[in-house]
Amino acid sequence: MKQVKIIEPDARKKSDMECRKCGLKYTQQHYRILRDAKKLIYFSLDFDGNPKVKPVCHQCLREAALELNNNEPTEVEIHSKLNKKTIHTFYANSRDRQEG
Ligand SMILES: [Zn+2]
Repeated sequence: MKQVKIIEPDARKKSDMECRKCGLKYTQQHYRILRDAKKLIYFSLDFDGNPKVKPVCHQCLREAALELNNNEPTEVEIHSKLNKKTIHTFYANSRDRQEG
């Protein structure tokens, strides 16, 4: 199963957040506001932490996850900062499923 991590805003970081698929870009401060308002989440698909791999936004996560698996149903385990895990299953042609 693919491990995915929620990237939390970090005001100490100078770098902006940018989705590598759609290019959606915000400063850390703006991301904080949107994250708190539950309007935006950036995910790291590289759980092992290659910092050079850019994140994806929540709107692109599905497509990015399916791409990893040749559009076959793809299970991802999403980790939040409190080590809470949620399993999402993405399907190319039908409704996605969420557990946990
Ligand atoms: Zn995006």
